Amino acid sequence: LGRRINAAVTDLTRSQTLDEKAFDGMIKEISNALIAADVNIKLVSQLRKSIKASVKFNELPPHANKKRIIQKAVFDALVDIVNPHQKPYEPKKGKSNVIMFVGLQGNGKTTTCTKLARWYQARGYKTCLVCADTFRAGAFDQLKQNAIKAKIPYYGSLTQTDPVVVAREGVEKFKKERFEIIIIDTSGRHHQDEALFAEMVEIQGAISPHQTIMVLDASVGQAAESQARAFKEASDFGAIIITKTDSAAVGGGAISAVAATHTPIVFIGTGEHLLDMEKFNPQSFVSKLLGMGDMQGLVEHVQSLKLDQKETFKNIQEGKFSVRDMRDQLANIMKMGPLSKMAGMIPGLSNVMGQMNDDEGSMKLKRMMIICDSMTAKELDSDGKIFVEQPTRITRVARGSGTSVREVEELLSQTQMMAGMAKKMGGNMKKMQAAQKNP
Ligand code: GDP
Ligand code: MG
Repeated sequence: LGRRINAAVTDLTRSQTLDEKAFDGMIKEISNALIAADVNIKLVSQLRKSIKASVKFNELPPHANKKRIIQKAVFDALVDIVNPHQKPYEPKKGKSNVIMFVGLQGNGKTTTCTKLARWYQARGYKTCLVCADTFRAGAFDQLKQNAIKAKIPYYGSLTQTDPVVVAREGVEKFKKERFEIIIIDTSGRHHQDEALFAEMVEIQGAISPHQTIMVLDASVGQAAESQARAFKEASDFGAIIITKTDSAAVGGGAISAVAATHTPIVFIGTGEHLLDMEKFNPQSFVSKLLGMGDMQGLVEHVQSLKLDQKETFKNIQEGKFSVRDMRDQLANIMKMGPLSKMAGMIPGLSNVMGQMNDDEGSMKLKRMMIICDSMTAKELDSDGKIFVEQPTRITRVARGSGTSVREVEELLSQTQMMAGMAKKMGGNMKKMQAAQKNP
């Protein structure tokens, strides 16, 4: 989609006679590209009008940079569509915030529930999960496995078949225990059916969620709009999460769904792993859609990471390096996101590298982080030697993290290598400092 729109703008600005007729032709080509990408026709005609109105082709000064002006108009019009100008619900600290997920089966509800729970947990909220999917066998088990991996308390039942009862019980229990974020996963059948919607509304009535979030697969086509409308009517959801933006080009279907329901997108799913979720930003979203690069996004991204190096530097100065330092360094690298995503934000590289697979490197980093997360505080603060002294620790961590003994050993040997270097550097620094004091 992005390529076709860019091509249309480029064709226009290359053409010898840059007149209004050529401009109209370009808008038509952009409109066709949007329609082919499943964007709703009414929306496209609206977009067309707003581009025409904002450019005012006849009034452009002769030497104006037409390409940039037109590109910007297309960009702004698309941003305006995905930006519903509404603030989503903000959870309040110290209160029980109940968040319910809805959406069709397979769209990524259960996966996204855990991602969102981890997201809030990492930001200091006391967070938990409730599985109200009693329809699909194995649903509770899936949520449970995810929750255990993320170390998030969960509630569900293998015997109770009424989802309304499970939802109510879970929410009541966690409210009593003063949880701040209570996330409820629900079932989604294959098709939109009356029973599903009735059940959804009943669960909502029983738990009165502060926020209902609809989960929508990025690849969903023409059906997205009616799907979203139906869910909006029944559940009046207040936010959307678009999943699987990594595996499928974000289709116009998802964009139409947002426009049709005037509901903000809050996050996008970018992979199957727990950490693969990003806050939604209309400008970056459209930049990527158009393949224009997202320098501003990149700068903001790196700034927002607040890479914390202080502790590690202090330790190295003192000649120390622990597994925890290793973990902090991994976290810093991981926060930057996989190479392919970073590349997607850099103009000129986005078209070439945007299609790159998530590289093996980032998978490996993730596994190393999970290994660290399975360690005790004492183990993290060690330089790794206690693992050599008590090898059962290695097997325990490997099992706990779902990795192999070899991978744990590899992480430890890298930490020890760093610890060795830190020792040398620390020693040298002390000598240097001493030399500076007593020349
Ligand atoms: P549910 O039926 O709505 O609960 O959907 P699930 O959470 O079970 O997800 C269905 C499938 O989509 C699973 O295989 C997930 O791993 C996968 N999935 C969910 N979110 C994402 C995403 O953001 N990216 C990718 N690549 N896969 C995802
Ligand atoms: Mg599910």
